[in-house]
Amino acid sequence: MIKRLGIMVFLLALAGTTVWGADADDAFENRLQGISRAEMQAVVEFLGHDLLEGRAPGSRGGDLAEVYVQSLFKFMNLEPAGTQGYMQPFALKKFTTSDIQLSCGEVTLNYIHDLVGTCTRDGKRFELTAPVVFAGFGIRAEQWNWDDFKDMDVSGKILVSRVNDPGLHHPDIFEGKTLTYFGRWTYHIEEAVRRGARGILLIHTDESAGYDWNVVKNSWTNGELFIPSQIENDLVFRGWIREKSLRTLLARKGIDLETLYKDSLSRDFRPADLGLQVMISGDNKCETIMNRNVVATIPGKVSQRIVLSAHIDHLGKTDAGGDNIFNGAIDNGTAVAAMLVAAKILKEFQSTLHYSVTVLACNSEEAGLLGSKYYVDTTDRSTIVANINFESSPVWKSSTTLMGIGARFSTFEDWIREIAAARGLGYSQFTLANQGLFYRSDQFAFVRRGIPAVWISAGEEEVDGERHYTRFWLGDYHTVRDEYDPNWDLGGLRQTIQAALQLVRRVNDYRTPPTWKNNLTFPVEK
Ligand SMILES: [Zn+2]
Repeated sequence: MIKRLGIMVFLLALAGTTVWGADADDAFENRLQGISRAEMQAVVEFLGHDLLEGRAPGSRGGDLAEVYVQSLFKFMNLEPAGTQGYMQPFALKKFTTSDIQLSCGEVTLNYIHDLVGTCTRDGKRFELTAPVVFAGFGIRAEQWNWDDFKDMDVSGKILVSRVNDPGLHHPDIFEGKTLTYFGRWTYHIEEAVRRGARGILLIHTDESAGYDWNVVKNSWTNGELFIPSQIENDLVFRGWIREKSLRTLLARKGIDLETLYKDSLSRDFRPADLGLQVMISGDNKCETIMNRNVVATIPGKVSQRIVLSAHIDHLGKTDAGGDNIFNGAIDNGTAVAAMLVAAKILKEFQSTLHYSVTVLACNSEEAGLLGSKYYVDTTDRSTIVANINFESSPVWKSSTTLMGIGARFSTFEDWIREIAAARGLGYSQFTLANQGLFYRSDQFAFVRRGIPAVWISAGEEEVDGERHYTRFWLGDYHTVRDEYDPNWDLGGLRQTIQAALQLVRRVNDYRTPPTWKNNLTFPVEK
């Protein structure tokens, strides 16, 4: 019987209709076409309001965003799936490190001018003295047969590491100039932790980081948030050093940075003990912040589930004069709106769901995907078949294409192509691939634990040839100009919601979770 049903599902799927019959299919399609402006506007209008003050984790505005989403879940009659009703509270540690000095013999480097960083230990002052090792790129990536560390023990050392990956300098290794996860600064720190290092200094250049020193300075001087388990290791200090400051320091000791760089481009590279002892010291402040994910479920016929996600936090406020609120209307108000409209429609069609759907409004994404990481690490992962994430969803005119950021790593890509083609749309890749965006939003918390995931979006090119979305990423993204505009067309947002819902439907109708393809550009920890 089960087998017969399986064949029937397959045949019906081939015929373009589903087990639920043509009526349900028509009703679903009509609902997708009928997604209204008001539905899409309501959430982003509120989340992007000045009263929310940029929704920083632990702030009044951040807490209000949590309560707001909880209320909407309740209003839609979704079932609570947090640890306290809809809420999943978790504590974060915040360290604000300042007045950092690095001394090496008679040479002293200074805070902000030469280096920034974070000490992850309690106490008002810190002092760390250790030998320095140049780690090259500090990468171990089996897929490219690349291991900078070989058998060298760097525990207890301060690593000086290049950022980005060797592909930036060799078009034929790694993915050339397309940034892999092994090139992200977060990876270099994670590897330093695995190696038992006591400190790491990432060498900053505009090209390798993808942004200038001001960006590093701004994001490393207002405190850094951590899940407590992330800092239960030997790494006391993580930070950035300006290349020219490092070059000068090394030159005074008779060491040529260019020679080290040249060596690091070879597979034969071994970490180089520089024969230097440095002391890094500074002031530190440690606080604990309470933060919550907001989680609901729409039960299907089985407990296996698809997780829809979008982060509710943003950057808060600055001390600057004038408009000082990072409203984050697009990052990530429009994406939360997309997720909630999708949840509303799935609830309406709950009787057609085979797999259950978890709706995850996650927090502290801007601080390093902390809410989604915490969720993935504490939930029963074995029941999750896929994650579909919404991030900074486009709000302009309809696009000529759909995009699945990270879809190429799994069968999601084939499905998005099918869904796009059925609507007369193309399938496109994000043109900003060199920024590693796939590794920078919540889908990556799932992916790094082996769960296929995609960030679904309408494409960059609009029907009239405009490219507002590309311009947003290169312009208003993470500025106070990311504000709600009642005149947005919202065609692209509607397409994003439709695509997500059709993907959920695709997984359901074929009873087939997505599977990996064999070209992963990141490490997977089970
Ligand atoms: Zn975002």
